[in-house]
Amino acid sequence: MGDLLVKNARVVSPGVDMRKAAVLVRKGKVSAVYANGDELPSVKDVYDAKGALAVPGFIDVHLHGACGYDVCDEDSPEAIEAIAKAKLEEGCTSFLPTTLTVSHETLVKAARNVARYRRNQRYAKVIGIHLEGPFINPACCGAQNPGFVRKPDMGEVLSLNRISPVKMVTFAPEREGGAEFAALCIKNGIVPSCGHTGATLAEFSPAYAKGLRHMTHFCNQMTKLHHREIGMVGAGFLIDDLNTEVICDKIHLCEDMLRLVFKKRPLEHIQLITDSLRCSHLPDGYAFEMGGLKVMLKNGEARLVEGGNLAGSTLWINKGLKNIVDVVKLPLKDVVRVSSWNQAIELGLGKTLGRIAKGYTADIAVLDPKTFDVKAVFVNGERRI
Ligand SMILES: [Zn+2]
Repeated sequence: MGDLLVKNARVVSPGVDMRKAAVLVRKGKVSAVYANGDELPSVKDVYDAKGALAVPGFIDVHLHGACGYDVCDEDSPEAIEAIAKAKLEEGCTSFLPTTLTVSHETLVKAARNVARYRRNQRYAKVIGIHLEGPFINPACCGAQNPGFVRKPDMGEVLSLNRISPVKMVTFAPEREGGAEFAALCIKNGIVPSCGHTGATLAEFSPAYAKGLRHMTHFCNQMTKLHHREIGMVGAGFLIDDLNTEVICDKIHLCEDMLRLVFKKRPLEHIQLITDSLRCSHLPDGYAFEMGGLKVMLKNGEARLVEGGNLAGSTLWINKGLKNIVDVVKLPLKDVVRVSSWNQAIELGLGKTLGRIAKGYTADIAVLDPKTFDVKAVFVNGERRI
């Protein structure tokens, strides 16, 4: 692969906003970023961004599906590839396919499907699996099936990790052995995450003391803030170094909550996620089953047919970033870190992914500057959209 020059772009990367800039890509990595007026190298392969935004390819650490496929579709080996293709269309270049609270047998088959896709990675890249459950609080299931909930079990996680790397586990820290489970995750290079939880601050604290620093879809399916027990929502506001996932579809968190989160929490500890379901990329009216529960897509909202709980989102991650910019009114060069670099740092990849800077992998999303619609996507320096 020869050199590539992405020119005439507004390059926005954490702390950087350069108009009419250019990015030189060599051997899949960013080898230089040129400011307006700098002399550009002569390169055969040139992409003219025509003033569009060039941002670090998005990293989504929490998504279940797209285009009719779910990560847990055990009998559809093509599912992960179809999801990876759909995510790429959003400008997402790396992701953690996220499983549901399902049986161990289903998780094993899902992990095998992920392992198969990881052999070629032709669309967005899979970094590893995010297990959302099954070790959650049965009282805080949301759209997860309580019938498959079980106690934290590192043996089960490690058996899946042997099939395909597990990078994150969402569990309820108040469950028996929760703090020890968090410690074991960290020991094995896995990010433990507090989610689908009914924990009080006191119940959460032992896991925090053992190193837990991540919260799954902050505010959704966790104990609310009360003035005599601040719960997990209160913990997210009290403790700066918790990495809080936020679903920025303006449905899971209303605009005022988004403003509050971005006003009170440090930007380096917020992570934009989609939590997208199989109904993302599909039209209204689509109905499906999720972990044995019926879900219907109506007015862009995916809700359980019974009870009406939100089941996840249909959000595209590029639109999530646009929602943040529109709602919180912070400079893009500051908020852009919540859609890639923060995730990369937590996953131990902060020196190679999540920035457009010399030496970083050339994962770049080119977006319409007004709508954030995707115009081109480069993965390892190769144009894939
Ligand atoms: Zn989820």
